[in-house]
Amino acid sequence: MTAMGGLEFRRGMHELGRGTWAYLSPPGTWGWSNCGLLVSGRDALLVDTQFDLPLTRDLLAAVAALRPDVQIRTVVTTHANGDHCWGNQLINGVEIIGSAACGHGMGEEVQPAELAALSGHGSPGTPLGDYMRRHFGGFDFTGIEVTPPTRTFSGRLDVAVGDRRIELLEVGPAHTDGDVIVHVPDAGVVYAGDILFIGGHPIMWTGPVQNWIAACDRITATGAERIVPGHGPVTDPSGVAEFRGYLEWVAERAEKAYASGLPYWEAGDPSAIPPAYARWGNPERLVITMATAYRYLGDPAHDLMEVLAHTAEGEAKLRAR
Ligand SMILES: [Zn+2]
Repeated sequence: MTAMGGLEFRRGMHELGRGTWAYLSPPGTWGWSNCGLLVSGRDALLVDTQFDLPLTRDLLAAVAALRPDVQIRTVVTTHANGDHCWGNQLINGVEIIGSAACGHGMGEEVQPAELAALSGHGSPGTPLGDYMRRHFGGFDFTGIEVTPPTRTFSGRLDVAVGDRRIELLEVGPAHTDGDVIVHVPDAGVVYAGDILFIGGHPIMWTGPVQNWIAACDRITATGAERIVPGHGPVTDPSGVAEFRGYLEWVAERAEKAYASGLPYWEAGDPSAIPPAYARWGNPERLVITMATAYRYLGDPAHDLMEVLAHTAEGEAKLRAR
């Protein structure tokens, strides 16, 4: 799979220009998240770590191989989902920056041991157990000590890296409670975290969808030409526009389906997805997004395991087709 500017969707570091890199993790599905690297002089800033310790060691080895002359002094955690921060403990003595809401969220997420139990060999022989084993069973959740930000902020924070200045913009709640994007003005680069999924259906854990649409507009307003999503290949403003269109469709679908009395899992049935997005991966995740969208329309909050069970059933139906 190729993306804009001939940047291949291949595992590892990809130069974006002016001392910026994307660390890409195909296939970009559950847990396979991208990171970013920014260098100025001998200082480096890392955007996000990986889902587990072995994958984060690979990331750090890639940084060391690429730029043995630099030291990571800052880590930005874009949000609280484990696939973006469960490697934080491996980078010692650095400042870890995230939004205050992200800091709170990290303790409230499903924890590594719970996720290991849900996706390991002993997990239940249900559609949900099967789903969790297939999507999460390949990661190694041992030894992880969830390590929250050491410095938190709300709104906006400008950070110096060597003699450069970058902007951390809190755009959540959207995907999660405290989503942050990283704008590197002098390179025309944005690291979007999970505000952007390219080639796969996003998951709206928190919402509201209108905030997420506004977050897309904030990315576009930076004028950046190279945008690194949390999952999938590097994109440009056209990729953001397409993703924004999907969110608008979600908002409309949720409103109509809720008004007509459909339960959220039927609103999120993958068969409802328009052809424009039919090739995106993990279409069953629309069920999670709809459960969240429904909450803002008046539906009660649903238990996470219930929502995931409907998600797994949606995928099982698709696989049986
Ligand atoms: Zn993610």
